[in-house]
Amino acid sequence: MTREDVRYRNGGDNSVLKMILLEQWQYRCYMCGRPKDFTDTQIDHLIPQSFSAAELRVAKKQYNLTSSFDLHSPENLAPICSKCNRDKSNQTFEGAGVMLLALSKAAKLRSDVIAACKRFGSGTQLSKHLLRSIAADLAQTKTREAFETYAPAIVQKLALLGEGKADFVTYHEVILDEMHSDDFHDIFIPDVGLSLLARGRTAMSILQDVCGCQMGDLLQPRVHDLIELLQNRVRHDFESITEPTRINAGPAEIFRLQVTIETIDYQRYEPVLEFTFQGKFDAYLVASLVQDSLNGDGIQDRQGEVAVTGTFSFTADWSFSAQQGSLDIGECTIEEWSSQVDVT
Ligand SMILES: [Zn+2]
Repeated sequence: MTREDVRYRNGGDNSVLKMILLEQWQYRCYMCGRPKDFTDTQIDHLIPQSFSAAELRVAKKQYNLTSSFDLHSPENLAPICSKCNRDKSNQTFEGAGVMLLALSKAAKLRSDVIAACKRFGSGTQLSKHLLRSIAADLAQTKTREAFETYAPAIVQKLALLGEGKADFVTYHEVILDEMHSDDFHDIFIPDVGLSLLARGRTAMSILQDVCGCQMGDLLQPRVHDLIELLQNRVRHDFESITEPTRINAGPAEIFRLQVTIETIDYQRYEPVLEFTFQGKFDAYLVASLVQDSLNGDGIQDRQGEVAVTGTFSFTADWSFSAQQGSLDIGECTIEEWSSQVDVT
């Protein structure tokens, strides 16, 4: 199989590609970020395959794509859920941000997707049988019954390879109250997803049942911190542009923000329980910029757009002598940061 063979095939069987894409995108719809099953997802062409040559040229320019960009290659493919696929036609300004984020992520994952598809192609019969189980539609009574009867044996077998290997992720959403910022209008506040393995679920139970903590109360101020950090950092990113001339940036407005807590760990340091939260964010922000004009005789109005992805963390301490729900929460820190800045 050559590299070019790993492509979407119209009218063909794309189930291996879809399974690998789902795995690489962590079983989530790229648009809403929610975890989705194989049967509830499709492979989406980020830049629509229906685009004319002229539209494609515009899109390539808009998203800084290479001339060899291939509509059917993993660099343009991502899993989308049925609901988002239906809604996708209502493209809004937010849509451009989602697209920018998704294209940069797809580009990063491209070589891993290709390698995984090739590995599968040279795999055993077993891989093919497992793919059938993954693709099984549990809405069908007989399929569901078979799954309920025999799948636990697979989980048990998997656990023989190592206890952690049979772990699974659960997903909850915590709804936050609206927040207001003096800098500008009401900010759009995302709901926070909690995407947790066994250790994280235990930590969450301790937080709720032992420390008497409400997840919403705990996360709300941290998300507020994160938003401020994002806005400051984006402003700094814009103002670091000095070519061709210096830029001054106004406050960055958030058009999209997805926040997911991916691990919660805990340690006991007598007389304190310390919880460490780690999460990731995807954001799209827009700011008004002014740039000195080239000949130095005035200023030009510009618009800056930025798609950022990254990770953050914070700690929360609960003392055994503290009241229920009273936690000492540390500052939110951004750890990884990757941004794609565009000034027009
Ligand atoms: Zn979706």
